[in-house]
Amino acid sequence: MNRKVDTQLIGLRCEHCGTIKAALLGWLKEHDEMACDCGQPIVVRPNDLVDAVKRADAVERRALS
Ligand SMILES: [Zn+2]
Repeated sequence: MNRKVDTQLIGLRCEHCGTIKAALLGWLKEHDEMACDCGQPIVVRPNDLVDAVKRADAVERRALS
């Protein structure tokens, strides 16, 4: 994990209302959950972050090539 990854914007889906909430990876690593607009917490799972980073990296590589 480097500094660039920590500033990666990660989208997590709320299980309660389906809204996608975006937050910085560096912030998510230090929090267990984040508040959704519907009032329910979105649980931050480490596995979700890993997958999201992989997806973001793939998108970035496509954009650059
Ligand atoms: Zn929600």
